[in-house]
Amino acid sequence: NPCPCGNGFDEDLCTCTPFDIRRYTKKLSGPIIDRIDLYIEIYRLNENEILKDSRGDRSEVIRERVLEARMIQNNRFGQEKLNGDMLNEDIEKYCILDKECEKIIRGAIRSLNLSMRTYHKILKVARTIADLSGSKNIEKPHLMEAITYRKN
Ligand SMILES: [Zn+2]
Repeated sequence: NPCPCGNGFDEDLCTCTPFDIRRYTKKLSGPIIDRIDLYIEIYRLNENEILKDSRGDRSEVIRERVLEARMIQNNRFGQEKLNGDMLNEDIEKYCILDKECEKIIRGAIRSLNLSMRTYHKILKVARTIADLSGSKNIEKPHLMEAITYRKN
């Protein structure tokens, strides 16, 4: 829930004060927040969206994709290590951006005021998205998707 009353996505329905919301979000401690790499803002669905038939991939299909991506990562590092565990030197080695991607991340750093830490997180997530799509390199759509998952 976005707030204690649970209606935080809809300003008209939310009965919380800014103080309530601040106290509520503070319950997630810093070290826990640091471990979260993906943030997705969600909003309440309306009746049309709820009734719309929009099935995604089945869990088994997704599971296969995830296992393959993990295998790619284990092979990359030669050990049971995943992209999320990359050190700075790994990031330099395995998250090489082409000119176009570099331009995008430069723009994001400037306009979104990204920290070094967030920048590294974005690269790790982009590497994982590239692995999930079986791509050798981080490409523009992977990077752009990764940028959308940062914490606001
Ligand atoms: Zn509320």
